[in-house]
Amino acid sequence: MSRAVVSLNSGSSSIKFALFTLEPEGPRHGAAGKLEGIGTAPHLVARAADGAVLVDRGWDRGAGLTHEALLGDLFTWAGDHLTDHDIIAVGHRVVHGGTKFFRPLIIDDTLLSALDALCPLAPLHQPHNLAAIRAIRTLAPDLPQIACFDTAFHHDLPEVATRFGLPRALHDKGLRRYGFHGLSYEYIDRALREADPELASDRVIAAHLGNGASLCAMQNGRSVDTTMGFTALDGLIMGTRCGAIDPGVVIHLQTQEGMSAAEVETLLYKQAGLLGVSGISSDMRALHDSDDPRAAEAIDLFTWRAAREASALISSLGGVDALIFTAGIGENDPVIRAAICARLAWLGIVIDPSANARNAPIISAEDSRVAVRVIPTDEERMIAIHTLAALTTAGGQS
Ligand code: AMP
Repeated sequence: MSRAVVSLNSGSSSIKFALFTLEPEGPRHGAAGKLEGIGTAPHLVARAADGAVLVDRGWDRGAGLTHEALLGDLFTWAGDHLTDHDIIAVGHRVVHGGTKFFRPLIIDDTLLSALDALCPLAPLHQPHNLAAIRAIRTLAPDLPQIACFDTAFHHDLPEVATRFGLPRALHDKGLRRYGFHGLSYEYIDRALREADPELASDRVIAAHLGNGASLCAMQNGRSVDTTMGFTALDGLIMGTRCGAIDPGVVIHLQTQEGMSAAEVETLLYKQAGLLGVSGISSDMRALHDSDDPRAAEAIDLFTWRAAREASALISSLGGVDALIFTAGIGENDPVIRAAICARLAWLGIVIDPSANARNAPIISAEDSRVAVRVIPTDEERMIAIHTLAALTTAGGQS
C-alpha cells in the first residue's frame, strides 16, 4: 500500500484541502478542493491535478452539519478516492505559533493547549484551525497531525522589524510584529529558487494578493520585513480587512462612536477593506465588473497602498531585484499587477503588456531593471512537505 498525506487549511466557514501521494521524488499532488458554506449550505468540490472534477456535492441537511461531520465525510471521500493509499498524517496550517513554535510539530495535548492560548492573537483564524484538529482527533485518534505555522517563515525577522513603538514590557508579553502568509512565502522562495536560483538569492518582494493580502521582503530566502504585524489585520487593504490604520481610529470608534471591542473587531476584519470602501463587494472581480465609481476608488486605494508598502519594504531591503505576484489577485489579475507596477515605475520596472495579459511566468520587459514574475502559490504543498519532515524527525515514520 502506498502512502498519502492530507493538507488542511481551515477557516470559519470553509476548509481548503489537498491530498498528496508520497513518491520517491517527494509529495505528488493527488487532488485538491474546498469544502465551503460550513454552517449554512455546505458544498464540496475536489479536482484532480489535471483540473478534472472528482466530486461536486452539497448536503441536504446543510446548516446543521458540524465541522466534525463534514470532515468525516471528506475523509470518507478521500479514503474512497485514494483506494490504494494509506493516509499516514494530516498537516494543518496553523496561523499563529507565537514566539515559541516555528518548526512543524506533531500535535499532542500540551501543544494543543499552548496553541489555544494563542487564539487571542488571531481570533478569526486560530480557533478554526484548532477546531479542525480536534475534529480529526475525534474521528481518527491515532492519526498523526502536524501543525505548520504561518508565522514561522518570519521567525528570524531582524529585531528592529519585530518592534512597535511601545513600552518594552508589552513587547516582552508578545505585543510585537510576527508576520503571516509564511507558508505561501516559503513556497514562493522555493519555486523562485528552482526557476532562477540567482534571483532567489537577491532582494525579492513577494506580493501575496488574495482575500488576505500582504507583502514580504526576502533576502536570500529569509524574511527581513513584512506588512502584516501583530495580527493579520495590518498592512495592505484586503477583501474585508482594513490594513494599517491610525490606531487613534480604534480609540475613536470606542470612545466617540460607542462601539464595543467586539463591534470594532467585526468592523475591521469583516466590513472594511475593498468591501467597506466600495460598499459593493470584497471580491476584486466584482469590483472590476462594476461601473460604480466607488469600485474604482477601492481598486485605486488597493494598488496605491500596495505600491506604498512595497516601497517601504524596498527600503528595508536596500533595493529590489525581483517582484513576485501570487494568490488569487496576484496570479490572475493583469489590471492590478499593471497598476501596482506603474506606481513603482520609478524603480525602473517595465512590464511586458502581452506577457502580463496572459499571466505569464515572467511579465517584466527585457529592459526592466527589476524582474517581475507571477508564481502560483501552493501553501498546501508546503504543509505536506513540512508534515513529512516532522514525521521523519519524530522517528522515521515516512
Ligand atoms: P484568494 O484569497 O487567494 O483565493 O484570492 C481571492 C481574490 O482573488 C478575490 O478578490 C478574487 O476576486 C480574486 N481573483 C480570483 N481569480 C481572479 C481572476 N481570474 N481575476 C481577477 N481576480 C481574481
